[in-house]
Amino acid sequence: MRPTSPQMYVSSITSPTTSRRWFAHSCSMSPITSCSCSITATSGSRRHGRRWKPCCYHNGVANSPVGNRSRVVSTVFLDRDGVLNQKLPEGGYVASWEDFHLLPGVAEAIASLNRAGLRVVVVSNQRGIALGLYTAADVLAIHAKLQALLQQSGAHLDAFYFCPHDKNECNCRKPLPGLFEQAEADFPEIAAEASAMVGDSLSDIEFGRRLGMHTIFVDGDPEHQKPGAEAARESADLHFADLSEAVKYLLDAT
Ligand SMILES: [Mg+2]
Ligand SMILES: [Zn+2]
Repeated sequence: MRPTSPQMYVSSITSPTTSRRWFAHSCSMSPITSCSCSITATSGSRRHGRRWKPCCYHNGVANSPVGNRSRVVSTVFLDRDGVLNQKLPEGGYVASWEDFHLLPGVAEAIASLNRAGLRVVVVSNQRGIALGLYTAADVLAIHAKLQALLQQSGAHLDAFYFCPHDKNECNCRKPLPGLFEQAEADFPEIAAEASAMVGDSLSDIEFGRRLGMHTIFVDGDPEHQKPGAEAARESADLHFADLSEAVKYLLDAT
């Protein structure tokens, strides 16, 4: 049964580098009718005056990784197309730098994360490589140009990981965890429960949820949303219009 009255339940998370608190909700639906967990208000939350016990995700996937425990969040995973750059109409692929149009506010948002001491990692499905539309070298060239562009705003991305495969042939196409595992191999200090995933599609949110990350959906251009975007929006811990708004929220509440 689908809950009818969305409501934000808030818990607190602590940034390691700033020791400030930001808040993310642990379950988005009220009343919870599809699970047996209990949601009980207790005292303790500073920002909202109430603190909520952890509850399960409304579709019963798992107990919330957020809960009401203080968490250290040190890494923000970002999807690329539709989050950093303008998403092309469904079926369109960013094959070259000419197709790559950075969205407004993205450079500033990444610079803010950098200044706050958070690691910023891009994880992107690039099936266009498997389809022969462009090569892995093309993707690397785009990322090099993106990094140079961001530098002009004092921003940088700490790492890029992408899946070059077609559907059902690897372990690294989101929502499968391979790209996270690659990041973890390069940065062993990364922990899923201390990470947030920001994306504009169901595969992004599922990727984050399966790993136990905090998940943030960004709307992007509604005309170019993938099928399943609405489900992604509902199942994410939080949702915002764009990356800029998401980062503002995270850092304001930190
Ligand atoms: Mg996307
Ligand atoms: Zn792959």
